[in-house]
Formats: sequence, C-alpha cells, structure tokens
Amino acid sequence: MSKTKRIYMDHTAGKPVDPHVMEAMMLYMKSLYGNPSSVHSFGQEARQAIEEARTKIAELINAERKESIIFTSGATESNNMAIKGVTYRNKDRGTHIITSSIEHMSVLNPCKFLMTKGFKVTFLPVDQYGFVNLRSLEKELTSETILVSIMYANGEIGTIQPVKKISQIVHGKNAYLHVDAATANGQVPIDVDNEGIDLLTISSNDMYGPKGVGALYIRKGTRLKPSIHGGGQERGLRSGTENLPGIVGFGKAAEIAKKEMPTESGRLKTLRDKLIKGLLDNIPRSFLNGHPTKRLPNNAAVRYSFIEGESILLDLDLKGVAASSGSACTAKTLEPSHALRAIGLKHEEAHGSLLFTLGKQNTEGEVDYAIRIMPDIVKRLREMSPLTPKELKE
Ligand code: PMP
Repeated sequence: MSKTKRIYMDHTAGKPVDPHVMEAMMLYMKSLYGNPSSVHSFGQEARQAIEEARTKIAELINAERKESIIFTSGATESNNMAIKGVTYRNKDRGTHIITSSIEHMSVLNPCKFLMTKGFKVTFLPVDQYGFVNLRSLEKELTSETILVSIMYANGEIGTIQPVKKISQIVHGKNAYLHVDAATANGQVPIDVDNEGIDLLTISSNDMYGPKGVGALYIRKGTRLKPSIHGGGQERGLRSGTENLPGIVGFGKAAEIAKKEMPTESGRLKTLRDKLIKGLLDNIPRSFLNGHPTKRLPNNAAVRYSFIEGESILLDLDLKGVAASSGSACTAKTLEPSHALRAIGLKHEEAHGSLLFTLGKQNTEGEVDYAIRIMPDIVKRLREMSPLTPKELKE
C-alpha cells in the first residue's frame, strides 16, 4: 500500500456525495434556480423538482402519500420536530415520553429539554447487544404516554432494533412511535406501513446525498405542532424557502439507494464480516460491540482491552486508514460514549472501542489491509500500556 493512498472507513460520520446526485443538483444551482413558491415558470420547475424528490423519498420508505414527507435541514431538526411537535400538540392527552438510553443526542436532548417544561421522560435500558428491553417498554407505557422515540439502528454499535415488535407494543397503548432512521436509511429496507412507524427521521448524507438536508415522515392523521413559523412552506409545519438543490440531491440519492440497496448491502455485509473476523481473530482480548448478525451492513465495531481507541486511531491514520472511536457527534468530549456505557461496558472498555464503517468505495483489498496492520498496532500500544498483563507483552 503506497504512503499516499488513504482509506476511508468512517462512513457513519460522513459520506461522499454520489456523482449522479451532484450532477442532478448542479442543474438547480446553475439554471433552474427559481423559488418553488413563485408562480412563473422558473418557480414551477423548482416546485416540480421538489415534488419529484418528495415522491422518491416516499417510495423509498413505502409512505402512503408523498405529502407525508416534510423536508428539513437534517436528522437533528427532524428529531426535534417530531419530539417537540408531537408532545406540544398532544399534551392534552398526556405528558409522558419514552425513549432509550442509546439514542442520538438530537433525541436525548430534546427529551431532556421537555423535562424542564413539565414532561416526564423514561429512558429505557438496553441489553448487552443494545436491544431495547421490550418488557420494560410494555411496563412503562401508560395512558399518559403520548410518544415513544426509538432509533432504527445505532451507528456506534450497529444494532438494528425490532421496530415492528416495538410499534405493536406502542400502538397497543395508543401512543405515537417516532423512529430515528438516520444511519440506517439507505442501508436497510424501511417500510413505514408494514413496520407501523408514525414518524420517521431520514437523513440525506447517509444515502450519499448532500449534508444539511433531511426529512421527517409524518403518518396521515398524526397531530404535530409546527416547528418553524414563517411563510407556511412544507404544509405550514416547517416554514422557510426550500433548499432546492439539497432536496433534489436527496431525492436522487433516495432513488439510487432504492435501486442499489439489495446488491450493495449484500456486498457490504460480506466485507463487514470479513473485517470483524480479521480484527478479532489474531488479537487476544478483542471483542465485538453490538449484535453479531442484527447489525447495520457497513458496521464493524470492536474493542481491545488495555489500550485506548484514540491511540489506535492515530496509528491507523498514520498508516492511511481513517476510522473512528465512536460517534463523531461527541468526538470532542473526553467522556466515553453513552451508547457504549448503556450496553454495559466499563469506562475503560468503552474507551478501548473502535468503529469502522464501510461504504460504496471500499474494496476487499482495503479491508485486507486494515486487517493486516491491526495486530502490530495493538501489540505496540499494549507494550506501552501499564494496564497490559505480562503474558500479553511477551
Ligand atoms: N440521529 C442519528 C442516529 C445519527 O447518527 C445522527 C448523526 N449522523 C443524527 C441523528 C444527527 O444527524 P445530523 O447531524 O445530520 O443532523
């Protein structure tokens, strides 16, 4: 492997934009730049492009109608819109929210904010794999519960939740189910109808679309308070001139994801399993984070005892491989990831964790290279670590 070759295995943090997506977007920056609310032909062309994108996203998740898709600035906004919108609008029915302890901060923090406004929030525990405890969910649901928010899959440990089972339990108590599908969308088939999802957060960049654009699916009949007041765009729920090129790119990305998902996810699963095996097989005291099979096709999350994930990352980077020690969203804090702690890892185990997330451009040769360089990196760092037992240093 030449020194200049760089291998990117941090696709949960950010993905490249598909060239077809870029091409579709360019037209709406250079030539078709009208405001979708204008009555002239420039405006009508823009409106048509937005409605076509809405249709493609609705088709990707099997939404009942395209009007159920509301465009936002990304998953964080969609999560805020769903959680605050539903709870404020339905507080006459109850003031209790249930979520899980491994959600993204853009779910946990709106919930914590709502606690300061008189709402009660239950944070469900998860098991060692990161699965939400369904018995606890059943037990905690009351007639006061208006919303349950559980993520489709966790990007740090890869575990995919049994969403259909969750929705059956939630609907048994007449609460709404919101699912944060950022990271999962475009990788695994999501069917809001079959899985019984009332609100779904979708993110564009996770499907090789541009960053800074996303959507919230809202099932017909779900009561929601608007999140941004203004000119009344997006059915009055999210005002502001639409991000035309971003939405066009998002739509194109959804169209490509629908077409490519079966083959690409299969290819990624094969690479993922090879990577996981290779990262664990020849290195003692190494472990998998998350579930072995019910995990995102691109996610290889491992941990090594006695050393820091951050140090491994630096060594990997010197050798040309970009991975992650967990969520990029919390990478600036020294605290170990709340998701890793929630699956029962000790402080030092969480710190010894490492996350590889694969993408379209990764090849088997790149996976082989990562597997090849890892034993020496771990050995060298363990030799320097005061925590390493003697027998592992010999
Ligand atoms: N939810 C989940 C599950 C995520 O992984 C992320 C980060 N990719 C977000 C929400 C927030 O996404 P964004 O920063 O694009 O708003």
